[in-house]
Amino acid sequence: MCGIIGYVGKENAVPIIVDGLKKLEYRGYDSAGVAIYKDDGFDVVKQKGRLSALEQRLAQKPLVGNMGIGHTRWATHGEPSDVNSHPHVGSKNKIAVVHNGIIENYKHLKERLEHWGVNFASQTDSEVIAQLAEHYYSGDLMDAVVKVSNAVEGSYALGVMCVDEPDTLIAIKKDNPLIIGVAKHGHFIASDVPAVLKHTDKVCYLNDKEIAVLKEGSVKFFDIDGEPLEKQVETVTWTMDDAEKGGYPHFMLKEIMEQPKVLRDTIQSVLKSGNNKNVIDTLDISRFNKIVITACGSAYNAGVVARYVFEQLCRMSVEVELASEFRYKNAIIDEKTLVILVSQSGETADTIAAMREAKSKNATTLSIVNVVGSTIAKEANFCLFTAAGPEIAVATTKAFSSQLALLYILSIRFAVKLGKISQVEEQKYLLEISQLPDKISSILKRIDSIQMYASECVGYKSIFFIGRNIDYAIALEGSLKLKEISYIHSEAYAGGELKHGTISLVEENTLVVALSNCERLYGKIMSNAEQVISRGAKVLLIGNCPEAKETDKLFHIGLPQGSELFSPSLSVIVLQLFSYYVAANKGLDIDKPRNLAKSVTVE
Ligand code: GLU
Repeated sequence: MCGIIGYVGKENAVPIIVDGLKKLEYRGYDSAGVAIYKDDGFDVVKQKGRLSALEQRLAQKPLVGNMGIGHTRWATHGEPSDVNSHPHVGSKNKIAVVHNGIIENYKHLKERLEHWGVNFASQTDSEVIAQLAEHYYSGDLMDAVVKVSNAVEGSYALGVMCVDEPDTLIAIKKDNPLIIGVAKHGHFIASDVPAVLKHTDKVCYLNDKEIAVLKEGSVKFFDIDGEPLEKQVETVTWTMDDAEKGGYPHFMLKEIMEQPKVLRDTIQSVLKSGNNKNVIDTLDISRFNKIVITACGSAYNAGVVARYVFEQLCRMSVEVELASEFRYKNAIIDEKTLVILVSQSGETADTIAAMREAKSKNATTLSIVNVVGSTIAKEANFCLFTAAGPEIAVATTKAFSSQLALLYILSIRFAVKLGKISQVEEQKYLLEISQLPDKISSILKRIDSIQMYASECVGYKSIFFIGRNIDYAIALEGSLKLKEISYIHSEAYAGGELKHGTISLVEENTLVVALSNCERLYGKIMSNAEQVISRGAKVLLIGNCPEAKETDKLFHIGLPQGSELFSPSLSVIVLQLFSYYVAANKGLDIDKPRNLAKSVTVE
């Protein structure tokens, strides 16, 4: 959450920063702002609302300068307003700051500074950083930043400039992401790689409490004690096109359509030599007596799907825990537990905390992440990378599908190592997984019928999703996707639970989306469909049940045949498109849904 970009170099910083903010807007869109260095102070323009509002202001008042910082905000402390927008400048007009994170002891620091006569302009926690830096500044910006870092508690990624230090941009982070971009014409700080891809594919990943001092012609790194550090410059594989809409109206639709390719790449990454294959080959599952999968949001739902697959194939019990709960529950885990962490960004605050909790209890941690160089990728004992490329839409699609693919393959390989399936069965399952991209392509070709059906569902106030067994697991993701982007209330239930309460909510013109891919349970889910239809509901049936017959109360979207274990990868495509088109028909801002942001780096 919150996007930070900073630039110092030969070019005009303003268009570079605004363009970078566009690539980071998925991280927060309560407000946006820039501060550009000039000899006698900063030019600051900041504005509540979308980035486009800031662009309009900048069009009226064009700024020029070779160094600056920008921010797109997801408010945690202080309402979204012009004054609470970043960058924040201290009351002496000496130091400008952008911040991603939460300063937990800000009240105490603020009171102290106010006692010393400092006047605060905003209600944010972030302003204390600018005020404190000015308080500590005595001719050396890095020294002031170190002192700030020692005084604050909580999480932060910071970009800092000082009026007295032209051509110096300082960055530091703790528990929030920050990368350094190295281009021919200058240097960057950014919350995420897409913000700099237009200018460079060379980046350095900052670790906690490392400091980067950027100038036009150099970048130097230091530890918190001021000792110089050597850091490796890495070349990223993502391209600029990956971070553009490529003719689609929304990133979400582009990312849905990319899934066959992304899945192929992810599956290949395990089959050919490289990190993913090595990790899966190396991990000795027989060392563990328990698997815990922990994650947040859709990644958690991927874990719920995976539990069915692991348990079925490995005959080993698997727990799935919300990372935000796991971190505080004093989990019963030890050196015989494998904790699997799933996070697209690799920076999800609760998942990072869950990982650290697991490590502190000597469990082995295996992460599944999309972003190389992210905190979870670096800190987990083992890491598998999804090959999804940058995912910009807030609602995940292709990253989720890639997580599922890795979890399937992991469970198959574990099952072989545990002697629970034969090599012939392994090959059969792997063949089926390798066919998923083509099956997904065939579903994507039927986009029109999904779009047509979704356009009729715009008026529903509440939509229920039901499924049994692994269909229930993917129903959770269908429901989350719908509520995220269409703002329609929705809940997912195990089909068998309906008559234990939920069915009381079913009335004339309720919509129930029923998933049906488990052959042995076709009859059961069809009776659930009958039960809700006889109480006035309409049913959208998604699945591979060949006997499903459409009626005026039941609409059917058929899916390709295949094992129930991997069917969530097919159902989810329909569920994503259904949500997408319901939201599109409502005219909503699909890529940036209300109150949400991607990469949840705050607790
Ligand atoms: N705490 C800061 C604010 O509310 C930054 C929030 C964030 O990084 O999401 O302005």
